[in-house]
Amino acid sequence: INKQEQHSFQSETKQLLHLMINSLYSNKEIFIRELISNASDAIDKMKFKFLSNENLKKQHRNMYIRISLDKKKNTIVISDNGIGMTKQEIIKNLGTIANSGTKSFLQSLEKENKKNSQLIGKFGVGFYSSFMVSEKVIVKTRHAEESNEKNGIMWESDGKGKYTLTSIKKKEYGTDIELYLKKKETIFLENWKICNIIKKYSDHISIPIEIQEYDEKNKIFSWKQINKAQALWTVDKSTITDDQYINFYKHITQDINDPIIWSHNKIEGTQEYTILIYIPSKSNLNIWNRDQKNGLKLYIKKIYIMDDADQFLPNYLRFIKGILDTNDLPLNISREILQENNITNQLKKSITKRTLKLIKQLTKNEKKYKIFWKEFGLILKEGIAEDIQNQEQIAELLRFTSIQSNCIEQNLSLNQYITNMSQNQKKIYFLTSDSYATAYTSPHLEIFKKKNIDVLLLSDRIDEWMMNYLTEFKGKKFQSINKIDDDLNQIINIKPQINQKSKKMNELLIKIQQVLKDKIKTVQFSYRLIDTPAILLVEKDTMSTQMSKLFMAAGQ
Ligand code: ADP
Ligand code: MG
Repeated sequence: INKQEQHSFQSETKQLLHLMINSLYSNKEIFIRELISNASDAIDKMKFKFLSNENLKKQHRNMYIRISLDKKKNTIVISDNGIGMTKQEIIKNLGTIANSGTKSFLQSLEKENKKNSQLIGKFGVGFYSSFMVSEKVIVKTRHAEESNEKNGIMWESDGKGKYTLTSIKKKEYGTDIELYLKKKETIFLENWKICNIIKKYSDHISIPIEIQEYDEKNKIFSWKQINKAQALWTVDKSTITDDQYINFYKHITQDINDPIIWSHNKIEGTQEYTILIYIPSKSNLNIWNRDQKNGLKLYIKKIYIMDDADQFLPNYLRFIKGILDTNDLPLNISREILQENNITNQLKKSITKRTLKLIKQLTKNEKKYKIFWKEFGLILKEGIAEDIQNQEQIAELLRFTSIQSNCIEQNLSLNQYITNMSQNQKKIYFLTSDSYATAYTSPHLEIFKKKNIDVLLLSDRIDEWMMNYLTEFKGKKFQSINKIDDDLNQIINIKPQINQKSKKMNELLIKIQQVLKDKIKTVQFSYRLIDTPAILLVEKDTMSTQMSKLFMAAGQ
């Protein structure tokens, strides 16, 4: 930097800052949570650097987040001795919007009512939330790999469109965030207020958060630790409150919504690990995007290693969030080595089992399971094909609609379907179709409706593909009702009202065959139909009509 540079915020950022500054928000205090969360991430990254750089570690033994309040200057300073930022990083991180949480926040504002910006307080919008209470923010930082003290950088902005970068001297690695409070926000200069906020949102942060105190008698400053500074997942779970679990979830995911359920386990024996997994209550907007990163936050022996470690869960459970802390992997592990590591595979197996168990536990709460199924059902269905070993457990989690459900919502489990079957029904009947409406009105259903035999109605895009893999459940075979099915005739047991063998009828069949020629294989009488004169059926082992439509759509 040549002394000083002027930069403009990216337009999305401007929009967000504008909202921050001009809204009447109810929950401003969350800026503390956001800044502390960033400081804690930066220190985690620094600790990771120590693993490969002994030298750094020696210079830099105690990690801390420090807060000082200055009533004369109207400032709050939040300092950390974490990794810091380079110039490129500062431009990218504090000038644009990269965080997906913030992006989806903006999108949700667009969808709802832009004027209703009271919403802001409810969301975690990262660093920019500091402008809710500040008229000016200064960031001073030096990256841990920048050894020259003179190469620190100062970022300064009033949040109104521009920011400046200046070269500064910064003695210690890490970052100081200085907030120049708006006049009406001086409540945040009160020591007790800050301590309460930190206890409320950030108690679980594993790094000491200290506040500067002034001792009037002895006229000295000292640092007082506010939080417990124990990583949440290492604490005995009987002492952790729901609120603490929820706040921790928000800290690691940037999700603005509460999780729907979680499970926390410490495993000892052949494998040693602690796992804390959460099921979100809302799916990430990008969950269908191939570039979207998923996976757990990985710690080894309590040291942060990486985010988005996607090697520990199968793809169909990619919506799961959480933390894995294991003693079984070496600290210097890389993503590549993780990929083809035997220990990784064992962990994956056991974490998958745990996760499926957790989802099963959720089925006991019908209301919550409905929410879950709506958000993640489509993704879970991928598991039927992807994870043959656990197929039956996954199948139990599926929910369907059916003739007898009589509504579009998918609430029926396969277990319930089987319980409802009459004694002579041997198979689980289903129909795949483009939409619920076409399925429900399909002539294929006539006889089933009449005979009170339930049929699952499948109209999600993935269903046809899924049903190729799902052939049996608890000893009952699946049967597509638009394929020929010899069993069916036994159940429906309707006496023919017409004499099939009559000459007239035979002539009709021949005539149809002549007209349709190669388009069909054969014409037969059927007892399936009540009001409809004719339907198309598919042979037992050929592709169904729905599947061939899919192939045609894909150009094959
Ligand atoms: P998020 O934390 O979700 O990425 P933020 O807006 O809170 O979004 O922060 C943006 C980015 O700025 C962070 O990802 C991080 O790279 C960087 N950053 C913020 N605060 C610090 C800090 N104290 N030390 C180092 N980097 C920081
Ligand atoms: Mg953040």
